[in-house]
Amino acid sequence: MAVTETGVSYYGLSYVEHARRDFQEMLDHNCNAVILALSEFDVDFWFPNIVRVAETAKEMGLRVYLDTWGVGKWFGGEPPSLFLTNNVVNRQHSAFTGEALPAACFNTEAFRRYYFEMVEKLATHVTAADGFFWDEPHYALPKSYASITGGAGDDWSCRCPICQKFFEAEYGYEMPKQLTLEVKRFRHDHALDILEESTRHIKRIRPDAKVVCCVHATLGTYYVTENRGYDNWDKVGRSMACDVFSTTILSYSLPRSFFKSITQRTLDIAKKYGKVSQRWLMNYYQQPDNVAEIEEICKLYADMGVESLFAWTYRGGYGTVLAAPNALEMWDALGRGYGAVLQR
Ligand SMILES: [Zn+2]
Repeated sequence: MAVTETGVSYYGLSYVEHARRDFQEMLDHNCNAVILALSEFDVDFWFPNIVRVAETAKEMGLRVYLDTWGVGKWFGGEPPSLFLTNNVVNRQHSAFTGEALPAACFNTEAFRRYYFEMVEKLATHVTAADGFFWDEPHYALPKSYASITGGAGDDWSCRCPICQKFFEAEYGYEMPKQLTLEVKRFRHDHALDILEESTRHIKRIRPDAKVVCCVHATLGTYYVTENRGYDNWDKVGRSMACDVFSTTILSYSLPRSFFKSITQRTLDIAKKYGKVSQRWLMNYYQQPDNVAEIEEICKLYADMGVESLFAWTYRGGYGTVLAAPNALEMWDALGRGYGAVLQR
């Protein structure tokens, strides 16, 4: 196996002539792919230029993936959600308090239709795109603190009236407030159901579209799991909503042995189900003590057999509140790391 794909995410895209310069900079940093991170506002408001920006990236030789970034706050990411702005209902509910949460419940018919229409619109009109990117889908974690990997918490979601109704119909008793085995199974099954139905909608329009499913790179072991709904990698890996099995960034403060074990587990799942493997690198917010370590991590992943490498994000997040301390240096180091491993 060799690294055949190297890319970054790209957001805030608005004008084709500006994007063209940025895409050239990506090519100069040894990228051959780009993920267009599209917020609900982008898809709604900037749609004509999204089509043209994707065409431009493709013409310049980049593979193009569409990331429905932060949609409904079901997917990871910072953008606000138009669905939540326009809906006071159809939200996930805390199991312990019953309160509505600032996240759409993807088991409600309203949100499902909203999302299917969005992916159909993108698949129909953004014909330059090679595929879709499911970006850290998850059930909301109703807790008062957050960490880069989510962290453990007792409360969980979703126990909204719709999820309760579905659970009772499937299992024949009231949905528990505890995260029992049946509740976990119910959550896994429904978490994948909307991705699989979305994939069917996309492939009906674009049979060759590649679907990348990127889940949180967490322990998910016998003793510790974070219960985001996509923690059973076997279920995700064998799903038809996953052509490429991808796992997210890791904090540089974690030991390198953790980088290795996550990557090996990613490769094992991809191989087991005949999927392409993808690993993510952090190129925003944090940086290693020595910036050049990012080049070593690219090499580590390549040596282990990962086929696709992606980094969040273009220019190390330069100019955002989540920029790496030395964002442009990180971006250059990433470019060198990609150059050393990309099989051309
Ligand atoms: Zn629900």
